[in-house]
Amino acid sequence: ARAQAMEVDTSPTVTYDDIGGIDEQVREVREAVEDPLVNPEQFETVGVEPPAGVLLYGPPGTGKTMLAKAVANETDATFIKMAGSELVRKFIGEGSRLVRDLFELAAEREPAVIFIDEIDAVASKRTDSKTSGDAEVQRTMMQLLSEMDGFEDRGDIRIIAATNRFDMLDEAILRPGRFDRLIEVPKPAVEGREQILRIHTRNMNVADDVDLTALAEELDDYSGADIASLSTEAGMFAIRDERTEIRREDFEQARERMALEDETDSDAKA
Ligand code: ATP
Repeated sequence: ARAQAMEVDTSPTVTYDDIGGIDEQVREVREAVEDPLVNPEQFETVGVEPPAGVLLYGPPGTGKTMLAKAVANETDATFIKMAGSELVRKFIGEGSRLVRDLFELAAEREPAVIFIDEIDAVASKRTDSKTSGDAEVQRTMMQLLSEMDGFEDRGDIRIIAATNRFDMLDEAILRPGRFDRLIEVPKPAVEGREQILRIHTRNMNVADDVDLTALAEELDDYSGADIASLSTEAGMFAIRDERTEIRREDFEQARERMALEDETDSDAKA
């Protein structure tokens, strides 16, 4: 069961170079996660505690998972991912057991980076802790906090969590010694969008009529994940047309198609 709920990647391949538009966030994550793993003596000598846990927050598809994977890769750490939603979809007691397993596994595989996606699923403010489902979620969260509190003796384990819903979080998890380093990962601005476009098209055969700088300007509100899909979609149009080069018109068609999908999305929700 433990193998199903957790994703273990002993050697992730994502590097910092694959991440565009969030240089400042990369720098902060390295400082909070990489430096304490690579250079623990420095923290001891200076006499500061490294952050216990790092919380990445921001809209979907902005690179939070990539950041966690990249830092594991660059420190040769095992990457262990658990989705918060997995921790709550369980029978009584299973959530806390999974949390224990998670930290045990990390201790076996250290150095390790634990990544808990959708942390809000286990740690949101709740108005009604009397219902049994909520009480169970609460227990899972308490288990997580107690694992983090007993952390120092556990060796080379760093923990990163992510959420799209910062406003929903229970403040208990943000106290010192817990997720005490907060890093916002926003949607990219225009320069960031251009960087991300360049990253995702670097192995693509892009025609000379494609101006990535101009394209980036038109991609208002696109996340990194949207830009990745746009690039792939543009490539698909070229292939459908039996061409070897991706042209400007392919990007245009891809954009139209994504805008259409967006509309159907909101129709479905309405
Ligand atoms: P979620 O909150 O939905 O889990 P996330 O922030 O963790 O999203 P990722 O899983 O890191 O997002 O990104 C999804 C994909 O989108 C990546 O695999 C990558 O292809 C692309 N992507 C997202 N952000 C960036 C970025 N900043 N630079 C390059 N590619 C990006």
